Amino acid sequence: MSAKLDLVSASGIRRFFELIATTDGVISLGVGEPDFPTPNHISQAAIRAIENDETAYTSNYGLIELRESVARHLNRLYGIAYDPESEIIMSTGVSEGLNLATQALLDNDDEVLSPDPTYVAYMPNVVFAGGRFVTVPTKASNGFCLEAAALEAAITPATKAVLLGYPANPTGAVMDREGLEAIADVCRRHDLFVISDEIYDRLLYDGAEHTCIASLPGMKERTVLLGGFSKAYAMTGWRLGWVCAPQFITDAMMKVHQYVMMSAPTAAQFAAIEALEHGEEDARGMLAEYARRRKLVIKSCREMSLDLVEPKGAFYAFPSIVSTGLEDEEFAGRLLLEEKVAVVPGSAFGPGGRGHIRICYAQDYALLTEAMARMARFVHRYRAAVK
Ligand code: PLP
Repeated sequence: MSAKLDLVSASGIRRFFELIATTDGVISLGVGEPDFPTPNHISQAAIRAIENDETAYTSNYGLIELRESVARHLNRLYGIAYDPESEIIMSTGVSEGLNLATQALLDNDDEVLSPDPTYVAYMPNVVFAGGRFVTVPTKASNGFCLEAAALEAAITPATKAVLLGYPANPTGAVMDREGLEAIADVCRRHDLFVISDEIYDRLLYDGAEHTCIASLPGMKERTVLLGGFSKAYAMTGWRLGWVCAPQFITDAMMKVHQYVMMSAPTAAQFAAIEALEHGEEDARGMLAEYARRRKLVIKSCREMSLDLVEPKGAFYAFPSIVSTGLEDEEFAGRLLLEEKVAVVPGSAFGPGGRGHIRICYAQDYALLTEAMARMARFVHRYRAAVK
């Protein structure tokens, strides 16, 4: 097999998921996807499309009506203007968008800087494109936000791009505007590209606000903005996202997309128009429920005396479990075996995740309550053993 693949191991999350699937009675706070079904009117739009024989490829870029809808959506939210004709590609999820961006921007051995802990797919995409993935540590004391000084210190002559994912998986961190402006300033001064995965941009709590980095001065021209439908509209299985960038980058990305994917799934694109045009209330309803669950998880972690940086976005909490005397892999493994609760060990997200676990609270409230009670029992048991 290709030597390139030796640099990448199978996803720690998926491995865990397989273990969960073969154990009875497990409550999963593991895999990061909404527990809600796709809102029915969105599904119906796809069903109608299929019944109307909309079953062929679309334009490589995606349906123009959908691209126009994405352009309006981003303009409304962030005041940023993308040309639907030339600056937006509908991709097979943000997952494909990451691949397009890295393939288009990177030459062999180009370095990409990314905050650690990091979403599991970032490193492999950089490696598949021939690049080198370089992590920049973040600190719990700074809310796991990327600091401009740390970013700048990691830049070398080989640095080509910065890969950001805020609101963050796994930490729930949200970069405030000031922090992001400082990052943007570093990127402009060192002439770096930015790949910004903003898939969780709608999942914000306690008054947190999302700043789209492409909307900052001088940034649109160097940014590949990734976003999508999976999280905000509970559409993970539809496999659809958007990739926005200046035309010189979309031209390059299109060379990859047209030969690898041809076009994003057609029925999903019809559903996506419905989501953007009429799905706001659904998105807000789900967000309100996530907010309720987030409170429960924060309260439970506090009661367990686990150190937790309050997550401001996405649907994850990332407490430290160091005080239990267990390594994170061991914690997650034993919690699964002894209490049948699945969480993801923080090390799966890079060295900066060590000593933490990721709790995904996109789970039914009653089940979440039960899972947190089981976890509390587990934590107290091990703490007692440590003492
Ligand atoms: N980016 C982040 C940060 C994610 O957490 C996920 C899924 O968990 C994805 C991208 C994948 O998104 P999509 O379903 O649009 O491919």
